[in-house]
Amino acid sequence: MDQSGVTAQTPKSPWGSAAPAAPACSLAEVMSEQLAKQLDEENAVFPALSDPAAELLPDEAPDTTSDLMLAQMLQMQFDREFDDQLRREEKKFNGDSKVSISFENYRMVHPYDDSDSSGDEVDWQDTRHDPYRADKPQTTPRKGFTGKGKNITTKHDEVTCGRKNTARMDNEQAVDPRTRLLMYKMVNAGVLENINGCISTGKESVVFHADGGSLEEQPVPDEVVLKVFKTTLNEFKNRDRYIKDDYRFKDRFSKLNPRKIIRLWAEKEMHNLGRMKKAEIPCPEVVLLKKHILVMSFIGKDHVPAPKLKDAMLNSEDLKNAYYQVLHVMQQLYQECNLVHADLSEYNMLWHEGKVWLIDVSQSVEPTHPHGLEFLFRDCRNVSTFFQKRGVSEAMSTYDLFNAVTGLNIPVGAEDEAEFMAEIVALEKRNEDHIQKRGKKTFPVTSEDGGPPLEPDADD
Ligand code: ADP
Ligand code: MG
Repeated sequence: MDQSGVTAQTPKSPWGSAAPAAPACSLAEVMSEQLAKQLDEENAVFPALSDPAAELLPDEAPDTTSDLMLAQMLQMQFDREFDDQLRREEKKFNGDSKVSISFENYRMVHPYDDSDSSGDEVDWQDTRHDPYRADKPQTTPRKGFTGKGKNITTKHDEVTCGRKNTARMDNEQAVDPRTRLLMYKMVNAGVLENINGCISTGKESVVFHADGGSLEEQPVPDEVVLKVFKTTLNEFKNRDRYIKDDYRFKDRFSKLNPRKIIRLWAEKEMHNLGRMKKAEIPCPEVVLLKKHILVMSFIGKDHVPAPKLKDAMLNSEDLKNAYYQVLHVMQQLYQECNLVHADLSEYNMLWHEGKVWLIDVSQSVEPTHPHGLEFLFRDCRNVSTFFQKRGVSEAMSTYDLFNAVTGLNIPVGAEDEAEFMAEIVALEKRNEDHIQKRGKKTFPVTSEDGGPPLEPDADD
């Protein structure tokens, strides 16, 4: 089907042709070599980026090199003692009374919890108290977070300022103490000037706006966001399949504890954004990854985040324009970045300066992921449905979009979703079988008809 010139170049596809007779294996072989090479290249590019502030932000020991930090830690110690005392008084005051008066509001801030300062544990297991809960009332008016960024203060005032910033974060109860400490260290190290407040609390992450400082003498963008991956694992547990079947991460995945897996999500988002940047897809630029906190450029201006595509007020011309941009970006993502977004919808695209920006790519996978094409199909359905509902007559059907993105030629026929899906699943399966045959998996595999176990290729 003609895609009205949008797919002028025939897209190359790691799947080869959809026709069953196609020599998909040899193509896939080439692909897997390419992928390995690509990963090597990325690894060569990323080490510097992966944790550039590692020395700035030491994990293992509290940083006592800075007097400021020391003062703050002492202050926090004092605060904790104060709170303990307060708790005792509260208990005494309320006694056995059924109606109790809370002293909560008198408590001090605890940005640093030294009850386990040896490691870098985060309290991911404690799901009784989810510090990321979205429904938590915000005690600080939202407007307060968008005030002017750079504080004009003398050095002497910094302790108070630091406390104020952490206090603001604390008000929102958005992050656990360890995360707060990490964020705080970023400010202390000068990577960030100021953390202004939360711009989104989602199921898997909390996003903060911050003013950039500088990193190893390189300026950090004026406005950045911190995407804090939730360390309470409930939601991520459901999403393991996005990562444990991603060959790039799978070996590491199996060896990691859940807390480290969370970091892997952040790392995955960083790598994926890196690939996208290379392909010049509009997306946030990675500044720094620190454990489960990803710092990246802010899409928006003067503290106002760009609207999601679903909220952007677009006239029909802009909408049509946005549609073609999305189509193009999906093709680039698939063909140039070798990625499937896997959560693409009007919620994860921002409209900024007349362009569609892609965000939220921690779950993005390579097309050869065992469910990669199914994820892509879902992405296509979201995109098609959104633009069709908004009256973009040019918007292709889900099926045509899928074919336009992949370059596969799955027959659309009567637009029977079941048939189309069956074809997709068959392709995925063929790829999976191929990978298994090549001996990438170590467990013995039996062929589907119950025949003898497949021998790995001699060269493996
Ligand atoms: P989640 O997994 O919680 O959906 P997202 O990456 O989609 O995480 O971020 C949540 C929200 O935060 C987004 O919908 C967007 O409004 C905002 N956001 C995230 N990253 C940025 C950014 N770089 N610039 C501006 N806003 C952002
Ligand atoms: Mg999102």
